[in-house]
Amino acid sequence: MGTNPDHKNDTLRIYYPHPSLGNNDSVRCDQSIWSDIGASGKLKHGDKVKPQYSVLVVGGGIGGMTLAHGLARAGMQVRVIESSQRTDQQGTGIFLLGNSLRALDQLGLADACIAAGTGWDTVSVRNDAGHETKVQRPPRTFRPDAPGAIGVMRPKLAEVLESHALAGGVRIDYRTTVEDFEQIPGGVSYRLSSGETGRCDLLVAADGTYSKTRTKVFGAEYKPTYAGQGAWRFTVERLSSFDGFALYKHHDGRTVGCLPLSEALCYYFFLENSKEHQHFPEAELSTMFRQRLAGFSAPELVEAMARCDGSRYVSYRPFDILLMPAPWYKGRVALLGDAAHAVTPQLTSGGGMAIEDAVVLTEELSTCTGIDEALAAYSSRRFDRVRRIYDTSLAICQAEQDPHADGTRAVELLMEGYGLLAQPF
Ligand SMILES: Cc1cc2nc3c(=O)[nH]c(=O)nc-3n(C[C@H](O)[C@H](O)[C@H](O)COP(=O)(O)OP(=O)(O)OC[C@H]3O[C@@H](n4cnc5c(N)ncnc54)[C@H](O)[C@@H]3O)c2cc1C
Repeated sequence: MGTNPDHKNDTLRIYYPHPSLGNNDSVRCDQSIWSDIGASGKLKHGDKVKPQYSVLVVGGGIGGMTLAHGLARAGMQVRVIESSQRTDQQGTGIFLLGNSLRALDQLGLADACIAAGTGWDTVSVRNDAGHETKVQRPPRTFRPDAPGAIGVMRPKLAEVLESHALAGGVRIDYRTTVEDFEQIPGGVSYRLSSGETGRCDLLVAADGTYSKTRTKVFGAEYKPTYAGQGAWRFTVERLSSFDGFALYKHHDGRTVGCLPLSEALCYYFFLENSKEHQHFPEAELSTMFRQRLAGFSAPELVEAMARCDGSRYVSYRPFDILLMPAPWYKGRVALLGDAAHAVTPQLTSGGGMAIEDAVVLTEELSTCTGIDEALAAYSSRRFDRVRRIYDTSLAICQAEQDPHADGTRAVELLMEGYGLLAQPF
């Protein structure tokens, strides 16, 4: 047994190492427990014995990195295996609604994320000439002194999550993958692309929509399907006329959205219906994006399009969706984030659902009597909520593909979705 002095709350933290790990007291413990004991060195009556597990997180995106931070904060041994480099993050942005901020706050991350982005409180619906036809306020679910929602550049968000995870003691291996793994009694043994081998109590697949980990554990029959729509995204300087989420509706059915990401930047998105799962050459994206916005005469859109000249970030991504049936675990492998549920982005909540997953899994692993119980509780707490968000997002996506719809139903569903998101998780 080794000691690791931790003077927070005047306690000593004592680790019970696994016999196979010799005297290394910083790795993991046999019964997967560690205890905060009084300075006397004795466990006091009524003291809670907190579990300490070793967790390998595959995928260091929004969900994986939030989970890693949460688990490390709860005293667990966490390692993240990420196939790319953080600096590979795309030059586009993301919205974090009130429910995401509320969840981030439970892990002490909300203020840093708010500081990295920009706040907003309204959804403004405009016609193609830019005249406002409706302004709505999504329900506030977070602190009254904070914005209702934020927009943030993805690389900035990744930086915040990474720095908190590292500060909490998480080990992150970039440009690394898990070459192979196998369920063994009480855990998972694995081999990394670096050749290193090891074991962990729990492996979490947070490797996104096309998760290889999910395929290996649950089977190739669980694969994403195309939702009939894709999104064009264009990041550009923000105009002062944007102080919230704006949706421009053309009378021919086309919709352009604008999201503020910082004081200086915003991004425009355009949803395109197509029976084909489309891919376009990168060099043509800016021209094609401008063509799609032809006919919108709002001065701010015209000005933004004039800057869409190939030197800015433009992307197109078809929506591939999937909702894994419960339970979201098999043995000691659990699914989290898009690996479990890739939703269409109409409610701007896929990342928010991944963050909530991370909070719930952290809570359950910190308080349950064992990993199996924690995984069962995690899956049952998450499935129904995520299913509602998945269904509502898809219903909006389908309403947008209805050639006879005037867009009213889609906006109604958007507001319904915001109401669902505001509910406790
Ligand atoms: C057009 C569009 C707009 C969106 N807008 C929003 C929004 O505004 N708000 C919102 O909340 N959500 C939004 N989303 C959804 C959001 O981007 C995702 O739900 C979110 O990124 C999911 O996080 P994740 O961590 O589960 O997966 P990801 O972010 O995909 O992260 C998975 C990570 O795993 C890594 N990885 C993959 N394979 C391996 C492997 N074999 N080994 C190791 N690492 C691996 C990847 O490199 C990646 O870093 C949007 C999605 C789209 C398509």
